[in-house]
Amino acid sequence: MAAVVAVPMQGCAAKTGSASAPCVKNVILLVGDGMGLAQVSALMIAENYKPLNMDRAIVGGFVKTYSANNRVTDSAASGTAYSTGEKTNNGYLGVDPAGKPLETILEKAEKAGLATGLVATTHIMHATPGAFYAHNSNRDDYRGIALDLLPSGLDVAIGGGRKYLVDRPDGRNLVEDLKKQGYLVADSLAGLDGVVNGQAMALYNDGLPLVVEGRDPEYLPKATAKALEILTANTPHAAGGLFLMVEGSYIDSAGHANSAEALLGEMRDFDAAVGVAFDYADAHPGTLVIVLADHETGGLTIPSGKENFLLPDSGIDFKWSTGGHTGTMIPLLAYGAHADLFGGTMDNTEVNHRMVQLLGLQ
Ligand SMILES: [Zn+2]
Repeated sequence: MAAVVAVPMQGCAAKTGSASAPCVKNVILLVGDGMGLAQVSALMIAENYKPLNMDRAIVGGFVKTYSANNRVTDSAASGTAYSTGEKTNNGYLGVDPAGKPLETILEKAEKAGLATGLVATTHIMHATPGAFYAHNSNRDDYRGIALDLLPSGLDVAIGGGRKYLVDRPDGRNLVEDLKKQGYLVADSLAGLDGVVNGQAMALYNDGLPLVVEGRDPEYLPKATAKALEILTANTPHAAGGLFLMVEGSYIDSAGHANSAEALLGEMRDFDAAVGVAFDYADAHPGTLVIVLADHETGGLTIPSGKENFLLPDSGIDFKWSTGGHTGTMIPLLAYGAHADLFGGTMDNTEVNHRMVQLLGLQ
């Protein structure tokens, strides 16, 4: 068990007179699944060095991603590190290596009365979003993971996976169960047009397609803005806040497929969502935004066309070294309230500890 390291709070806890008083009201965590430094660089080069939204970040860091049982993590173990602050085995979601459930930051936020949300391009039962509300030692048990949506208390979920709620061997219809609990359940983002508060989900039947397969290239910023609109309206009182996790899910798929074209479509969409989150932080003091990845996918490098680097530009190449994940550190970018606490090199579990402490949830 990693020790929880106290974060220097720069006087905010002292000012409020309580060690557990929140130092930030809102946390928006954006996860580019499989997004290493080369993936960010690929977008930067493709945009001809025009500033990205990510370039607005005021603090940069590096995150170690290894899991409890593998130096190369998967999304389930790394998502669990971000959601619970504990290392677990690859394939495990919201449980420790012995299978014991671990409370997630989203569950803690719900208990404290914060509004909570999840946005993804893949289905909401997939590893990264699943890590924030589910407790299951099999990341592929989508129908089992879907059951954990019911007690989650989530205010907003936007993504895919409706089929796992309605096409079930147990005969249950979890969409109907969610409606009985008071949720509005739409089957697309457009179905949330006009919805401005309350508990709401937009669940596409399957995961969404990639941008190169025809997805709206601005799906993620639109979904992020809609989630923030509803969460802000649901924020219960002036001191209450929100926790939102947004996943650019298919940066990982592009890496697995070693496709630069697919990668750039997903990176553009993700960077636009980062811009929405940073704008929200500008308009809502007390908002912290963290942009990171769970791991790098594809072993991407961007070599020069010719190895003689004394020559002028001889073109670049996108070279992939694997169809799987890698063990390199990933970049972290932070913006807004107390972003300065996320500089330097840290473990993925430490990112959770700092978010939990800043929200006053420990
Ligand atoms: Zn992957």
